[in-house]
Amino acid sequence: MVEMHIGFDDTDSPKRGCTTYIAALLVEKLSSIGVSFIDYPHLIRLNPNVPWKTRGNGALCLRIRCNDNLLDKIIITVIDTIEVNAELNYEGTDPGVVFLFHKVPQEIKDFSKRTVQGLVEQRQALKLIKRFKAEALGFKKGRGIIGGLAAIGESLNGDHTYEIIAYRTPENLGTPRKIHSSSVTEMNEKTSPFTFNNIDPETGRILITPRGPDPILYGIRGENPEVVRLAHEMIRREEPVERWMIFRTNHGTDSHLRKVSSIVKIQPYKPVDVQGVVTKEPRVIQGGHIIFSIRDETGEVDCAAYEPTGTLCQISKNLTVGDLIEAFGGVRPSSSKHSKTINLEKMRILKLAPKTTILNPTCPDCGRRMKSMGTRKGFRCKKCGFRSSQLEKLVVKEERKLKKGLYITSPRSQRHLTKPLCRYGREKSSAPKRTIEGWHFP
Ligand code: ZN
Repeated sequence: MVEMHIGFDDTDSPKRGCTTYIAALLVEKLSSIGVSFIDYPHLIRLNPNVPWKTRGNGALCLRIRCNDNLLDKIIITVIDTIEVNAELNYEGTDPGVVFLFHKVPQEIKDFSKRTVQGLVEQRQALKLIKRFKAEALGFKKGRGIIGGLAAIGESLNGDHTYEIIAYRTPENLGTPRKIHSSSVTEMNEKTSPFTFNNIDPETGRILITPRGPDPILYGIRGENPEVVRLAHEMIRREEPVERWMIFRTNHGTDSHLRKVSSIVKIQPYKPVDVQGVVTKEPRVIQGGHIIFSIRDETGEVDCAAYEPTGTLCQISKNLTVGDLIEAFGGVRPSSSKHSKTINLEKMRILKLAPKTTILNPTCPDCGRRMKSMGTRKGFRCKKCGFRSSQLEKLVVKEERKLKKGLYITSPRSQRHLTKPLCRYGREKSSAPKRTIEGWHFP
C-alpha cells in the first residue's frame, strides 16, 4: 500500500464550474476502483489578497491509500476528469494537478503557509515538486500547480472547519436555486453556533446558496462533520441533489492573517494583524466607506472599512485620535490616489482615548452659556449682561459611543477565511483520527 496526495486548483471560470465539484466526481470514481481515503478532501482557501486570484481562490487535495498497481490508473482518472470538467476555454483558467507519493515534507508545508499568507511564484512550486519527486501536470499556463501543491502542504493539523456541499444536476445549472428559506432558518436555529454563516443577521439574507451559475446548490459550514451532515438533512429542496460531499477546510480560521510586530513590516498583498494608535479622525468617502489612519513608532498606515462590512463600518466611524486598535485585513499597495491601506476584515479596540470638548462657562445669574470676550479677557452673558474675568472654560468629558472589544465584518461580506465571532473559543488543535461513516454521496 502507498500513500498518495493529489492536489489541484484553478479549474473553474467566473461563469462556470467549480474545483470542489471535480473533487466530488473524483471521490466517486476513485472509491469505485478500490482506493481508500485517509482523510476528508481538503478545501484550502489561499491568500484572498493576491492580485491574480481566481474566483474563490480555493484549492483541493485528496489524500488516499492504495495498492501500487493502481497508481497509473488513478493518475489517468484524475487527469481525464480534470481535462473534461475544467473550464479550459476560459482565458484565465490554468488548471494544475500535483501527485505526491509519500508523507508531506515540512518544506511543502512551509510553501503552503506562504501561499495562504503571502505571494509565491510558480517556479518555487516546480522546484519543490522536482526535489520531492512529485509529479505535476499543468494545463495551459499551469498556474493551478501552485494551488495544487499548496493544498497538499496544508494538512489542517491545527484549527479547521467543515463544509458540506450539495451539487445540482446539469439541467438546473443557471436557474434559481429551489430551496425553502424557512428550512434554512430552522436549520440555523437548531445547529448554530456549531454551524456558522448560514444567514446574514443584519439583512436576513441566506448565505448558504451561491448566486452564480456554478454547480453548487448550497454549502453549509460547521465545526464537525456530524453537524454539517445533520444540517444538510434539514434543508427542504425542490430540485434534486446530484451529489454531496463533506470537506475539511481552513474556512473561518483566520489562517491568512499574519501577526506583524510593527507597522513598517506591513507589505502589499500580505494580510496582517497589527496594532496602532488612531492618528486621523475617521472620514467618510464616496460610497459610505470609512478611512482612518493608525501609527506606531515605525510608521503610519491607512485603514478602510467598506460600506458592505456593516458593523465594522459603523464602529470605525466612531473612532477618535488616540484610540489604540488592532487591525486585521488584506493590504492594498499605495497608488497615486491613496497610500498603503489595510482593508479591514476585523478590528479589536484595545484602548479608548478620552474624548473631551471645551465649552464656555454658564452664567452664574441666569444659567445661559456665556460668550468669550477674547483671550484672557473673561466672559460676558449676552442675556443678562453679567461679566466675569474669573470664570474659566470648562473641559467636558464626552461619553464614547464605543466599547472595547472585537468587531468583525458582517457575515455577508466575510471572506472565506475570516474567523467569525461564534468560532472564538472553538479552535481545534489536531486533525480527526478518522472520517465518519458516509461523508459523501454517491
Ligand atoms: Zn446671564
